[in-house]
Amino acid sequence: MASSDTLYSQDESIANVLHELARAHRILEMEGHGDMSMGHLSYRDPHGRGLWLKQGNLGLEEVTGRDFILIDFDGNVLEGQGLRHLEWPLHTEIMLARPEVNVVGHSHPFHSTVFSATTAEIAPYVNHAVWFADHGVPRFTETSHIITTQPLGASVAQTLGEAEAVLLANHGVAFVGRNVKEAALSGIFLEKAAKAQLALAASGLAHDPPGAAETIEKHRVIYPERARSNYWMYFNRKLSALEEREAREFRD
Ligand SMILES: [Zn+2]
Repeated sequence: MASSDTLYSQDESIANVLHELARAHRILEMEGHGDMSMGHLSYRDPHGRGLWLKQGNLGLEEVTGRDFILIDFDGNVLEGQGLRHLEWPLHTEIMLARPEVNVVGHSHPFHSTVFSATTAEIAPYVNHAVWFADHGVPRFTETSHIITTQPLGASVAQTLGEAEAVLLANHGVAFVGRNVKEAALSGIFLEKAAKAQLALAASGLAHDPPGAAETIEKHRVIYPERARSNYWMYFNRKLSALEEREAREFRD
C-alpha cells in the first residue's frame, strides 16, 4: 500500500501500517462504528516509544495516514500534530497489559453500545459471535464514564483479560489484535454479533445457542489465518469501491 499521503515517510514501515490503520478507521465507519468524531485506533510503536493514536476531532471516515500522533505510555505527545483524544489511557494501559497486542480500538458502534447497557452476554447465535469463542466478550461495569485516567485504563485492561474485545457498559466497546486486520475484524464481528443478538431478543422467538464444544471447533474451522486475510481484503475492496463511487458522485 502507498505511503505517500503520510508525514511519517522517514520510517516507511510505520507509514505503511498507519496507512492501513487509517483504512481500518474508514472500514469501521462503513461497518457501523461511527459516532460523530468519537472513536479511535492505535498502533504500538515498533521502536518502543509508545503508540500512534488517531488525532481528535475527526470522524472515523475522515482518517488518513497523516492523522496520527505518537504518544508515550504517560500520554506525552512525542510526534505529530492535532488533539490528543481524552481516552488515550485506554490504549496505553491495554498495550502495557497485553504485550502481543499491537493494535487497540475504541468506538461507540450503535448495536454493541445498546447491548453494553444490558446484562446479557454475547452468545454464539451467529458465526460472527464465534470469533469470540475462546474468551467471550467481558463487560466493564466500574463506570459508564469515558476512560481518561491510567487507573481506569488499567481496570479496563484487567476486565478485557485475554479477550479480543470488551463491552464498556453504557458507553461503547474496545477491541484488540496482534495487527490491524485482527483488531478491525474483532470490532466488525462484535457489532454484527450484537446486532444479531438484539434482533433475536426482540423477536420474542424461542432461541438456543450452539454448545461450547461445537463453537470452539467451529472457531478453528471458520477463522483460520487464510479466512482472516480473505475477509480483510474483502472489506478493503468494499471500502475502495465505496470511496470511488463517492468521488465519482462528487465530480458529476
Ligand atoms: Zn468512548
